[in-house]
Amino acid sequence: MKFGFDIDDTLINLREHAFHIYNHKLKQNIGLDAFHALTTMEIHSAFGLTKEEGGKLWSSLRDDIYYSQCPSFPYAVDILQELVHQGHEVYYITARAKEHTDRTEKWLIANGFPVVEGHFYCGMSDSEKVHIIEKLNLDYYFDDKPAVLETLSHLPLNLYVKDRSYNQHLDLPRIVSWDELREIIK
Ligand SMILES: [Mg+2]
Repeated sequence: MKFGFDIDDTLINLREHAFHIYNHKLKQNIGLDAFHALTTMEIHSAFGLTKEEGGKLWSSLRDDIYYSQCPSFPYAVDILQELVHQGHEVYYITARAKEHTDRTEKWLIANGFPVVEGHFYCGMSDSEKVHIIEKLNLDYYFDDKPAVLETLSHLPLNLYVKDRSYNQHLDLPRIVSWDELREIIK
């Protein structure tokens, strides 16, 4: 079968990683309770920043956020390795900007994710993901972002939302922990 995955906040804990980096850079010590209470994907409000200030800070720290030691979610690497060993196809579809394509692919490989040549898609907009996912004829697709998932509901595939604080309103099957995937595909 063909499995497609978003990366940020689906396979890796990027926003929480960024939250720690914000605390460090801003010399603050905002607790993770504030992180878990966020109802937005953006994290700036927990630091009292405006949208504009938050956007600037994210841009200035983007390389650090993307390419330092962002943790994967528990079981994510193991499960994806298992899928590949079982003969399934694993695809990555990320809307990170195009200039991050090579480094992001290398980062995934360096951090243990199985990446097969041609199975890595980067640099599309959120609204363009649907076209790639449709063309790939995926059996399963996993993402955290409401604006992306809402564009996919008409596709004939098994759509799952990775459980995060800002997507609780979505009425879709949920992955809370990646070890649940073994049961789902049994
Ligand atoms: Mg994401």
